[in-house]
Amino acid sequence: MSVPASVFEHPAFDNHEKVLFATDPATGLQAILAVHSTVRGPAVGGCRMWSYDSPADAVTDVLRLSQGMSYKNIMADLPIGGGKSVIIKPKGDFDRDALFQAFGRAVDSLGGHYISAEDVGVSPADMLSARRTTRHVVGLPDGTGDPSPTTAKGVFLGIQLVAEKALGKSSLEGVKIAVQGATGHVGSYLCEHLAKAGADLTLTDIHEDALQALAAKLGAKTVGKDDIYDVEADIFAPCALGSIINEKTIDRLKVRAIAGAANNQLATREMGAELMKRKVAYAPDYVINAGGIINIMGEIDSRFDKKWVEGKLQGLKATLAEILDTAENEGRPANLIADEIARQRIEDARAGKLQAAE
Ligand code: NAD
Repeated sequence: MSVPASVFEHPAFDNHEKVLFATDPATGLQAILAVHSTVRGPAVGGCRMWSYDSPADAVTDVLRLSQGMSYKNIMADLPIGGGKSVIIKPKGDFDRDALFQAFGRAVDSLGGHYISAEDVGVSPADMLSARRTTRHVVGLPDGTGDPSPTTAKGVFLGIQLVAEKALGKSSLEGVKIAVQGATGHVGSYLCEHLAKAGADLTLTDIHEDALQALAAKLGAKTVGKDDIYDVEADIFAPCALGSIINEKTIDRLKVRAIAGAANNQLATREMGAELMKRKVAYAPDYVINAGGIINIMGEIDSRFDKKWVEGKLQGLKATLAEILDTAENEGRPANLIADEIARQRIEDARAGKLQAAE
């Protein structure tokens, strides 16, 4: 199969080292495995299975996600590179175990340059199927477990920092925080931390029963899912969907900072400048939400134990502080500063200037 020139010209191609288009007619597998960078080690990133409207959408998704993993992993100073894979969900019935075994063979063909884990639409059981045909998978049922509590802990530390930098608050006591996706895997753990720290919470989710139960337990207020953008609060913590900071929502926001777990919160990079114009501080998503990938390192190498994970979470906080300070001092959007640091670190690693992470 010839690769169309447009893949190279894609805005998110960004010098990807390898992009593998893998098919297996017997199982219906159509997958794209993208390796953005291995300068720091094998490219690690999840596999997403989704019913894409077109193969072009799948290409766009995998390239953006893979580039994002490179940035996330290098900002967390992990000894790994960045990659991602997507499976175009077969139409109708399919043999899931066979499909993921075929996916495993595709992963294996990359000879360890790419290590997969689960992402949206893929479970630890699917990774177990893939494990039958490759050893280059993590996120297994008997592995490091659900990464969400560690992601939530990292986001909590990031919110504490944002409160300090943007609001001048040394504690979260009484700080008004609006959480979107409150009953989700990350959201629920995050809300527990925030409530314990004394934050004044307003929560939303599409799961109404779970939302009311959580709010009652934590003494929080709730709003409808479309009203969260209008909540007057100090901090907005998006923990559900991507692209929620967009042309339609940005003028509704009545907050002084945004810091949450969701990936790709800004619909476009320009939204970062729009937030700055409105004096809203922004914690770049791939920096604050790296706890999950940090947690999974334990499955790649046993040196990465709980104490190491805790140290890395504190490291995330320090990196976030550097980004927010630079944004403030230079009067430039935090998302662009983070991208610049990530790209520079990748270049430095490529040139052998960046010391190997531990
Ligand atoms: P999840 O699916 O468990 O939680 C998402 C929650 O958002 C659900 O409770 C869902 O009901 C809710 N939701 C969906 N649409 C909504 C809407 N329109 N309004 C309000 N709530 C809505 O997912 P998760 O694992 O908690 O991840 C949350 C976000 O964080 C995702 O963007 C994910 O990519 C990102 N993330 C997660 C991790 C992790 O460790 N799980 C790591 C890094 C980034």
